[in-house]
Amino acid sequence: MDIRPSKFHSMQTANQTELKKTDDLAGNAVIRVEDVHKYYELGETRVHALRGVSLEIQRGEFVAIMGASGSGKSTFMNMLGCLDRPSSGRYLLEGIDVSKHDKRALAQIRNQKIGFVFQGFNLLARTTALENTELPTLYAKIDKAESRKRAVEALALVGLADRMEHFPSQMSGGQQQRVAVARALVNRPAILLADEPTGNLDSRTSVEIMEVFQDLNDKGLTIVLVTHEHDIAQFAKRVLVFRDGKIRKDDPVTHRPRAAEVLKTLPTLED
Ligand code: ADP
Ligand code: MG
Repeated sequence: MDIRPSKFHSMQTANQTELKKTDDLAGNAVIRVEDVHKYYELGETRVHALRGVSLEIQRGEFVAIMGASGSGKSTFMNMLGCLDRPSSGRYLLEGIDVSKHDKRALAQIRNQKIGFVFQGFNLLARTTALENTELPTLYAKIDKAESRKRAVEALALVGLADRMEHFPSQMSGGQQQRVAVARALVNRPAILLADEPTGNLDSRTSVEIMEVFQDLNDKGLTIVLVTHEHDIAQFAKRVLVFRDGKIRKDDPVTHRPRAAEVLKTLPTLED
């Protein structure tokens, strides 16, 4: 699959005519967040989960988000992924003001623009790698031949060209997570969002997944990753640290390791 930004971009504009861009304020940013607050109402109490978050993420960035449990990382990711809306402030995704759309429109935006990967792989058990990967295309109204072609390409991109007909139970955890990444890519999203994608994996397998992410990012894909492991965050190009619902740090990674190189130094299962 060709995921260079230009191609990504033109393919998307073709099928999203109804979602009109608000204005030019977003410039080239894929993500623009302006003074976002999020409150959860829990009976009498009110949790202030995001307390004035602003940032921009440009096309081709690879951002890791760190921070203690409860600091607002998942709340923020859910907003970026259009699973939830901010209580106040604005969120522009490729220039579209997401804050203004209702649930149905959010679902459409999500399907077209967002690829999600979670800690649990969430694959359908009685379904092959290929069929699992094709699933999101069903909602995107892509014809069958094209769906198949895209799923095959996505699986090849994550290094699973030889595992298409395998069921989840016939694959390792790392391979299952790769299928989940392929599934996230099949609709050619503008961004890949991953919330603790290596949380269930051993350290070598975690680095293998980061190798896949670095490869995809090299090809132009914008990635936002939540992790609580410092070593994993270093594979990104930029690290944000959340505390108490705010961004406390936002730094470029200075000596970024290549996952492919790190893997050469790690023992394999057979060792
Ligand atoms: P993190 O992912 O960094 O652990 P979260 O974004 O999950 O943090 O949570 C931020 C704060 O918001 C926490 O205090 C948490 O208890 C609260 N919170 C998260 N989701 C909900 C929810 N659906 N309802 C009420 N409170 C929530
Ligand atoms: Mg979380």
